[in-house]
Amino acid sequence: MRIILPIKIALLGFAGGIFVNYISDVLPQTRTLSKPICMNCGHPQSWANYILWPRLCPSCGKRRRLRIWAVDAIAIIIALWLWYSPPEILGFWVGFVLLVYFGSLVIMDLEHRVILHPVSIFGAVLGLGIGIWLHGFWDTIFGGAGGFGIMLFLYFFGGIFAQRLARRRNEELEEIALGFGDVNLAGVIGLMLGWPGILAGIFLGVFSAGVFSFFIISGMIVAKRYKPFSVIPYGPFLVLGAVMLLYFKGIFLP
Ligand SMILES: [Zn+2]
Repeated sequence: MRIILPIKIALLGFAGGIFVNYISDVLPQTRTLSKPICMNCGHPQSWANYILWPRLCPSCGKRRRLRIWAVDAIAIIIALWLWYSPPEILGFWVGFVLLVYFGSLVIMDLEHRVILHPVSIFGAVLGLGIGIWLHGFWDTIFGGAGGFGIMLFLYFFGGIFAQRLARRRNEELEEIALGFGDVNLAGVIGLMLGWPGILAGIFLGVFSAGVFSFFIISGMIVAKRYKPFSVIPYGPFLVLGAVMLLYFKGIFLP
């Protein structure tokens, strides 16, 4: 029966979506992989209620957020897309697992402005595996060290720049544009892209972050609400650069 396969793939995508939602809900809040909790009141919930239906908190009655449903839907679409046009470099399974990882990381970074150490460590293991499979041992190690080193340099350089500027204006520095989680993430992505692929990865990440903030700043100037240190998280853009290179070979890579 032909209909079965797309349904299987969609279910796999749904499982991926559930995982992304669960990790992004629970990990930043409890720092462990505990039973699912309500994002509103912290009350523990049964798995069936949390994963499937009614997705309502038994204590405060709040329904789970829109993000949950959006992630589930997007994960199903992505699983089907990967299955019917698998990425040339990674293939379906590695491509799927890596996107689940990236998805969790991006959502946690956007919602909590944090890339937790367990997430970086897991990424390093995953990145080491993917890197050695794609580039061999030494190019993987050099890629990881290169990504980490370049971002570390930008981290210190950016920090010094922001502090000088803040001192000149007699302002307290509120937020730093580049967090140390981004340095770790660049190392993880460096393992995946290898050397010299990480150079293209960082370039695409920093470039797309620049293009994005250009439009944001232009919008703020037009709306006359310009704030010079409105911080954008770097993580999602680094991930975007890696996704361009790993999933769209032929478009962004010769
Ligand atoms: Zn609740």
